[in-house]
Amino acid sequence: MTQKSFTVVGGGPVGALLAISLARHGYRVGLYEGRPDSRRTSIYQGKSINIALSDRGWTSMERIGIPEDAKAQAIPMYHRTIHDLDGSLSRIPYGQEGDAIWSVSREGINQQLLDIADAEANISCHFQHRLVDIDFATATTTFETGFGTQVAVEADFAFGADGANSKVRRLAHSFPRFSYSQTYMPQCYIELNIPAGADGSHRLEKNALHIWPRKDFMLIALPNPDGSFTCTLFMNHSGDPSFEGLKEEAQVQAFFDTYFADALDYLEDPVDEFMARVAAPLFLVHVFPWSFNHKVGLIGDAAHAIVPYYGQGMNCGFEDCAELNDLIGQYDHDWKRIFAAYENTRKPNGDAIAELAKRNFVEMSDLSGDPMFQLRKKIEARFSEAHPDLWIPLYSMVTFSPEIPYAEALRVGDLQETVMDQIMALPNIEQQWDQPGVMERLHRLPSEVLGEKQ
Ligand SMILES: Cc1cc2nc3c(=O)[nH]c(=O)nc-3n(C[C@H](O)[C@H](O)[C@H](O)COP(=O)(O)OP(=O)(O)OC[C@H]3O[C@@H](n4cnc5c(N)ncnc54)[C@H](O)[C@@H]3O)c2cc1C
Repeated sequence: MTQKSFTVVGGGPVGALLAISLARHGYRVGLYEGRPDSRRTSIYQGKSINIALSDRGWTSMERIGIPEDAKAQAIPMYHRTIHDLDGSLSRIPYGQEGDAIWSVSREGINQQLLDIADAEANISCHFQHRLVDIDFATATTTFETGFGTQVAVEADFAFGADGANSKVRRLAHSFPRFSYSQTYMPQCYIELNIPAGADGSHRLEKNALHIWPRKDFMLIALPNPDGSFTCTLFMNHSGDPSFEGLKEEAQVQAFFDTYFADALDYLEDPVDEFMARVAAPLFLVHVFPWSFNHKVGLIGDAAHAIVPYYGQGMNCGFEDCAELNDLIGQYDHDWKRIFAAYENTRKPNGDAIAELAKRNFVEMSDLSGDPMFQLRKKIEARFSEAHPDLWIPLYSMVTFSPEIPYAEALRVGDLQETVMDQIMALPNIEQQWDQPGVMERLHRLPSEVLGEKQ
């Protein structure tokens, strides 16, 4: 049998992981990235962009045989540290004792995967190759190179792993019966920085994800290994307050003084940074199908751009790769069946995490600062500890339970919410939440609620 070939468009984290998986199944892979090689040219201008990777992402990499080296550079975050308006702090654990999500550098993990891809004999990496066209019947792709020339690349199959603004996906609009929706969130974001202390130490608690929840907007901070924190300010595009509304330096200063007074002790030139930056939009993309003519597929953000409020975008993209990796073996390289199984199993999960992520803005920006919400989490955690077989909190299903598909987590999470609404409505729940009666009630409720819903 001749060795079949793939073109992977986009050398981001998902494209690099996919290329490795395909190469290890014996395919010849051309990995084409529009930007220069970040390992040789700094394309991030010295700013670290960090993200939270959770068990889903790590397990997916393991399934493809990637060693856990990346974890050595990652920082575990065991809880959210909530910064109230008055400067007081509280903690909400992410899961059971020892459960953590991990702060990693996006650039770092991308570079590690590119290094592994480079070492695979079957993969050739091409930078400064920007896709401009694709033939969905033949999988032939056309790239514009950094030198202004165009090259056509032939392959048996192709994947668009070219991110939230995917060109492959945009070109697929001409495909018959292609469904597409793009929805902008009210919020945009800018990144800010908290530098390390003079001795290189973290100036805020290191092993936590910090949140300043302010209802319609919020600031978050994730730790970096060099002692700094990458912060993200999420706020509405328009309205009051908003990126559009805050135009004058004095207004921006007053905004930070009013809402983020304790963070001002640490943030590096937040007002100048705010004035200098253009807030980036956040949007959701739903498309179907994810494959065309059994020749071309979409993967990662190209298939399902979601909002970052659950910290799952990259985790989900890595899981796409791991599922595909399994399907190649299961269907013995029959790409007609592989593409069909891939899009039919992954699409409902992509939709589910998109929905969960959208909902989580309210949880992060508003509820996380609400004492009743914190109590709700405490009750759930207590019950889950006592009955792990009956109750895994939604956050843990999504983040720490890769064996539970996102769609199932969404379904069960909705039932749990109904149950918890009833518990929180009990009289004096603040005082009696840890009494045996409440736990017994909770024990009885799940089947009652499940019974009602089924
Ligand atoms: C503010 C923010 C915070 C986030 N936080 C988290 C988090 O905590 N946890 C998490 O799991 N996810 C998070 N995400 C999501 C995560 O960053 C993405 O899901 C992930 O980067 C998707 O990887 P990808 O490889 O599919 O796409 P990308 O990372 O976008 O990579 C796509 C690649 O394709 C290249 N490309 C684009 N067009 C072309 C073209 N025409 N030709 C060739 N190459 C092209 C791009 O240059 C890029 O290198 C966050 C996202 C944002 C915006």
